[in-house]
This record gives sequence, structure tokens and C-alpha cells, in this order.
Amino acid sequence: MDNAEIIRGFRRRKLIFENYCVANGVKKAICPSCGLPTLNARAAFGYCFICKWEDDGQDDPDADFVFGGPNGSLSLTDNRIRFGTSVADLDPTVNILYKPEELVRLLLEWSEEFKQNKPVEPSEYVRYLDDFAQKKLEFFASGRS
Ligand SMILES: [Zn+2]
Repeated sequence: MDNAEIIRGFRRRKLIFENYCVANGVKKAICPSCGLPTLNARAAFGYCFICKWEDDGQDDPDADFVFGGPNGSLSLTDNRIRFGTSVADLDPTVNILYKPEELVRLLLEWSEEFKQNKPVEPSEYVRYLDDFAQKKLEFFASGRS
């Protein structure tokens, strides 16, 4: 998987989760680095526990710049590629990140609230994502110091 493919995967995932959150009243913001709904708000220095990006407000217009600060020497583009590369060639349960509809299906299976299409508490939602992270992305969580 080349970098352009990884970025396309990110954009598709971001769009699907943006639409999903709006349609289901899920009050989460989409991480600008991994495209998953892991943040409580944008540009509020929230920490994405999936891709380890701290959201200092950087987004597409300046994605290639290194801001320093919490993300050190990584640009947003660097971290998108870093995360995408880390998960791209691994087993199919991890490549689920490239099938966000499948991740939504899993979230629905895990939650009565999701099944009933009710809005859920953000803290509960984070718990589901956290379960996902622990089950599917353990290898990645240990990757970045
Ligand atoms: Zn992220």
C-alpha cells in the first residue's frame, strides 16, 4: 500500500465516520490523523489513543508542516502515513480500518444503544472504541514512545 492509498483510506474513513456521527447523534469529533471518532472536540489538545496524535488544530491546509509541540517532529501527514503504514499490511482484523462500515457494524454489535440507534454517552462510546483499540490495535499502541 503506497502513501497515496493510505491517505485515500484516511479520507474515506474520516468521511464515513463524520456522516455516521451526525446521523446517529454521536457527539465525537473525528481525529484529523487516523479518521476515527476518538476526540471530544477538535483543536482542543485532545489525545487520540488510537493513533497517538495530539490535536493541536492542524488539519488539511497545513498538514505537511511540522508544528512541533505535542507531536514533536511529526507533521500531520507524517502521522497519517505512519499510522496507515503500521496497520496496512497486518492481519484482516486490523485492516478493518480500511473497511469503516465493518467497524461501525462491530460497534453496533457491541452496544444495545447503537443497535437501537440511540445516541450514547461520549464516555461510553470511547469505551467501545477503547475496547476496539485494545483488541485490534495492541501492536500499534506499543509502537510510539
Ligand atoms: Zn487518531
